[in-house]
Amino acid sequence: ARTAALEDSTGPGATKDGHKVPLLANIGGPKDVEAALANGAEGVGLYRTEFLFLDRQKAPADDEQEEAYRAVLEAFPEGRVVVRTLDAGADKPLAFLPAPGEEPNPALGERGLRMSRRHPDVLAAQLAALARAATGLTTKLQVMAPMVTDAAEAAYFAAACREAGIAHPGVMIEVPAAALRARDLAPEVEFFSIGTNDLTQYACAADRQVGGLAHLQDPWQPAVLDLVAPAAGAGVPCGVCGEAAGDPALACVLVGLGVTSLSMSAPSLPLVRAALVRHTLDECRQAAAAARAARTAGQAREAARAHLPGLT
Ligand code: PEP
Ligand code: MG
Repeated sequence: ARTAALEDSTGPGATKDGHKVPLLANIGGPKDVEAALANGAEGVGLYRTEFLFLDRQKAPADDEQEEAYRAVLEAFPEGRVVVRTLDAGADKPLAFLPAPGEEPNPALGERGLRMSRRHPDVLAAQLAALARAATGLTTKLQVMAPMVTDAAEAAYFAAACREAGIAHPGVMIEVPAAALRARDLAPEVEFFSIGTNDLTQYACAADRQVGGLAHLQDPWQPAVLDLVAPAAGAGVPCGVCGEAAGDPALACVLVGLGVTSLSMSAPSLPLVRAALVRHTLDECRQAAAAARAARTAGQAREAARAHLPGLT
């Protein structure tokens, strides 16, 4: 059997039997590119663009945006870069895009695409800057919206992308309604990316900013895995870009559920790469089935591990 020591876990992501799983990096801007490349990222699976907008009274200038996007795109000439449009609101408040009124529950309020629809000029400027940044480059630019709930919102976003000349629109799946009805959203977009941080928050009704609820903010909760399954099976490529993708055992489970790429913070890439190459797709599927059959997060973790002998 092929064994992979951590230190020789380089190259593209794949299971032991050669099923390819592109391993991508989550980044917040050009300054994170170096660590992504150093850890062998095949591209970027989540470019969180709100960092460009933080601490400002107005949106960054068009050419400043274009430059920040181009610097990242240029670093992956043979790969893909998945850019997320502004995810303002809730845990990511922005001074220049305040919530329209008092929000007793900001996580359930105007955030993500909901906020962008209120400020279509900001969205259009961002999409235009992205389209300009990708012009003349070989990098595949994919653009996705956060906090999408239904097919109508997915269609709205895809239309905005097309209008701006963005060829590959997608949506994040981080609202349980979108996960459950992923088949409705699929015809509107080219890809999904599951945000397990928010999907877990909403599935378990446990605010991600409340530290005392950590036991419920666990993506091993079988209910969360039950939401991943329909999204991964809806007929469009479906990545995961939440923290769950960086947990080696859970990464194998996600692949077993049908997830097609994994995006994580750069330091997690080598461990996940090593975990995948030590297991076959069939072992990943068995681990996924065992985890979903469990009744608690702890039991799901244990049940999955029993099918993943290559993990230490
Ligand atoms: C997520 O919700 O899982 C995600 C990737 O996005 P963020 O953590 O930025 O909300
Ligand atoms: Mg999110």
